[in-house]
Amino acid sequence: MTDIAVTLADKRGTLPTDDKLGFGKIFTDHMFVMDYASDKGWHDARIIPYGDFNISPAAMVLHYGQAIFEGMKAFRTEDNRVVMYRPVDHLNRFNNSADILSIPQMDVDVVHTALKKLIELDKHWVPKALGTSLYIRPFVISVDPYVGVKVASQYTLFIILSPVGAYYASGFKPVKIKVEDHYVRAVKGGLGEAKTAANYAASLKAGEVAKKDGYTQVLWLDALEQKYIEEVGTMNIFFKIDDEIITPELNGSILNGMTRRSVLAVAKDWGMKATERRISIEEVYEAHANGHLQEVFGSGTAAVISPVGELCWKGKKISINNGAIGETSHKLFDYITSLQQGRVADKFGWVEE
Ligand code: PMP
Repeated sequence: MTDIAVTLADKRGTLPTDDKLGFGKIFTDHMFVMDYASDKGWHDARIIPYGDFNISPAAMVLHYGQAIFEGMKAFRTEDNRVVMYRPVDHLNRFNNSADILSIPQMDVDVVHTALKKLIELDKHWVPKALGTSLYIRPFVISVDPYVGVKVASQYTLFIILSPVGAYYASGFKPVKIKVEDHYVRAVKGGLGEAKTAANYAASLKAGEVAKKDGYTQVLWLDALEQKYIEEVGTMNIFFKIDDEIITPELNGSILNGMTRRSVLAVAKDWGMKATERRISIEEVYEAHANGHLQEVFGSGTAAVISPVGELCWKGKKISINNGAIGETSHKLFDYITSLQQGRVADKFGWVEE
């Protein structure tokens, strides 16, 4: 087992009150760092005070974007334990992103041990109120000081931690989503399945246009025909039609969402029909026209479940469930958030001390 050197911060910060948390703006006292060099492999695992760091202006990541990240959460339970949600599954997905970006594989055990140690050290930063959590952001960047396109030979891995407020601070409410018919996010055989900076860069313009029109995010269609549904900006998507929940199958161009996996498992456990298959936007609009479309919701680490109240495709707006939150969306949100904060028994083995 790799040793993890620890350098403690001189001063420890304090966790702000829940109303000041927001998302992704506050960071804890420490961070985990590990380097990679092609002749040494991953080495020099260390926990150091959180802070800025130096890289060369020629660092490859700044020019060619060879970078990956993860996003997961730790929670404080009612009885004051700090738990993580599916950390090993997230780290395995991190390695899958690494593979897609030609970044060397990490030893999941080492990173998992480091993460536990980091959280133990900064555990006073994990908020307790319902819906709050500690957001965990592991990422890897390529750092060779080299201006030229190639697979890098030096990388740095970081894990930073950020206490975050409740996503639905003003209540669980449906969002309006624009079905994107002009821009595309990812192509078959491309980077779509990876959590990599490029996918988010590719989404910005469309998101900005949609926001101007009053929509929170866009729903991406496949890049070839703009016919089949892929995913939302930072969420996977589910449709409830005739009491069956349907989500687009994993096809290499959408993210294999952890919440998506959780939703499929929970719904099946409840005896619901839960299906992964290709689904076109026409099918969804037809189901709506025929009165069969009962619910639409997004799934993702940040919001867990995000009910969709309105879709707009090529200017045609449809109101889902009359803009009200559907029964399944609500039940899934309550159940998964309760499981994460230790309020219901963890029959799936997803919550780790
Ligand atoms: N799709 C994209 C593009 C995302 O960024 C996210 C957020 N990680 C998701 C789906 C949902 O994935 P998860 O449930 O693992 O957060």
